[in-house]
Amino acid sequence: MVLIAAGSPLDWHESKQYLDWVKRAGIEQFVHFYKKITTEKKSKWMEILRWGDELEGILVEFDHENKRVKLVLESSEKLKEMNDRGYGNIFTLEFGKFMIECVPQKPYKGLINHINTVESNMRERRTLLAEILKPNQYYLWYPTFPLLGCPNITIPDSRADFESNQENSMSVFISDDVIYSSHPRFRTLAKNIRKRRGSKVAINIPVFKDKNTPLPFKQPNIPEWDDGDSKEHALVDHVYGDAMAFGMGSCALQITFQAQSAEEACKLYDQLAILTPILMALSASTPIFNGYLIDEDCRWNIIAQSVDDRNPEERGETSQKQGDIGVIPKSRYSSIDMYISEKHQCFNDTNVPTNEPLRQHMLQQGIPENIANHVAHLFIRDPLAIYKEMVTGKAAEPENYISHTNHFENINSTNWQSMRFKLPPPDSNIGWRVEFRSLDVQATEFENAAFAGFIVLLSRVILTYDLNLLIPMSKLEENFANASKRNAVLDGKFWFVSSLKCEDGKCCYFMGPDSSMGNELEQEKAGAQSSEEASKKCCCDKMDINTIMNGSESGFKGLIPMLKDYLNGMEDIDYLTRCSLSSYFSLLSKRASGELLTWASWMRKFVQDHPEYKQDSVVTEKMTYDLMWRYTRIVTGQLEDDSILFKLKNSSQSDVSKAQTVAQDRLEGCECNDD
Ligand code: GLU
Ligand code: MG
Repeated sequence: MVLIAAGSPLDWHESKQYLDWVKRAGIEQFVHFYKKITTEKKSKWMEILRWGDELEGILVEFDHENKRVKLVLESSEKLKEMNDRGYGNIFTLEFGKFMIECVPQKPYKGLINHINTVESNMRERRTLLAEILKPNQYYLWYPTFPLLGCPNITIPDSRADFESNQENSMSVFISDDVIYSSHPRFRTLAKNIRKRRGSKVAINIPVFKDKNTPLPFKQPNIPEWDDGDSKEHALVDHVYGDAMAFGMGSCALQITFQAQSAEEACKLYDQLAILTPILMALSASTPIFNGYLIDEDCRWNIIAQSVDDRNPEERGETSQKQGDIGVIPKSRYSSIDMYISEKHQCFNDTNVPTNEPLRQHMLQQGIPENIANHVAHLFIRDPLAIYKEMVTGKAAEPENYISHTNHFENINSTNWQSMRFKLPPPDSNIGWRVEFRSLDVQATEFENAAFAGFIVLLSRVILTYDLNLLIPMSKLEENFANASKRNAVLDGKFWFVSSLKCEDGKCCYFMGPDSSMGNELEQEKAGAQSSEEASKKCCCDKMDINTIMNGSESGFKGLIPMLKDYLNGMEDIDYLTRCSLSSYFSLLSKRASGELLTWASWMRKFVQDHPEYKQDSVVTEKMTYDLMWRYTRIVTGQLEDDSILFKLKNSSQSDVSKAQTVAQDRLEGCECNDD
């Protein structure tokens, strides 16, 4: 969910004078709020499991006569209509004028049976939106529109031309008209990212080299009126893009969990981070970019480059000093850089820049060091959208801003990392939360519910049995870099703990804060030993995703068998929930083993088998139409394709039974229901 603040956004040159002020105010808000929340008596709702999903989707229209599919730039109108119908809290805006995000009306609760309401809830959202769409229009969960960047792909038509595109992205491919415009946030982000960086963003993704792909490959359709920036930054053998819309026009499935406390949130953040590359590779659905087949399968690297606001010095391209922080290894959209829990600090074996003055300030104010490190790392980034009303006049006086979190959130919500640690919002019943953010959105509610259910179950096992999946951060970085690669799900090898055992509520194979192995790793880190050495101590091996998910004959348990054991040991799970969970496991298991394709492999294969395809990596309008129409027919149940999905039996329920609701209330220590 995006942070929506109203007001007059400042241009980058006007923003500059407020950057440090906003960061300082954000930290003051954080310190104030952290102290308040850790000392005050909390509402009971803040301390129980609640969770939710966010699904981002696109509006498309099919022209069956001319065999074309286009993006519909009407999200404002559609959102207004959904709001008028009373669904304003389910459907919300996103970066693209062709995008709509949807969330459940209220969070899911903690019983296993609640997982069985997710799929039905997602289906209801899709159906509700379908009611207001024109004939031949569809709302699709589809990560990246294949022809985004090509001409003639929007309704109404929009064109990147020299005159109209000077303001925000300055793209030679995509008109700024595709950016959501009823709120200034997104255009301001696009403009200020470009200005802070000092040039247009440059997205370069390796081209998929097919038999007839012209090599060396050089992005062909850069127009004459390009001022030289695109020609300079388009890399050889890469498909190139030059606008934020290429990335933030992409769609994710995100899952947010409420934890019982800040400590528990840190633990979930760290442990679930291990799964972000593995599950991203399983969710892979993005093999096409700017009209070409690419050598990657996920949207991740496209978005990371599309919002990379680092200046040349921060990117390590020049030693000319341009700021205080020096080299920043990654984009502000990236995999996480550090574990947060105190007892996991010894796994942070990479160099991570922090905002040192703000870190010192937090430490002086009594913020625990592990939390201060995390926040100080996020605060190396500048605020990108500053609204004048928030930094001038009365709003700029400490007594007026201290009890809010807007300045803190300005930075936190534009650190688009694979996991996000979320503060309890002020004046609400909502507690500490963590968000899982790496997944390419899936086509059907069945698949999206399967991923969501899997992650929520895993989080239960992590908390109930103190399961420890941690690997050194350098290994997690390596995993993340490998996860986007073409066919990573079958060909990739990923670092993972060698054994999945839990004992007496404690993990036996791995360290606690006081275990001797933990101390050894700490000492090794101090002695700057190679991460190869550290990984041996950490009992992790390189495995394929099939082994990680399904286990191996040589004795590795596998996450799915482990979760099945967990469920078998539980009573109180109704029959239909067990049916759904079993089909969710089956889907993920078959995707991991290759028995079912990922959407990325399915799309790539579809293009390669298409009669119009010339084995030159080019994806045409007709291919896109055929591809997306087949996709749509699978989503709407008009077509079955057993290479991607098995025949579905729908066991999902719109609500858990009355008996379950009572059980939930007892679990939460109250007889009332908060519905
Ligand atoms: N659309 C972005 C993605 O695919 C996420 C934007 C958000 O944080 O909501 O990752
Ligand atoms: Mg979103």
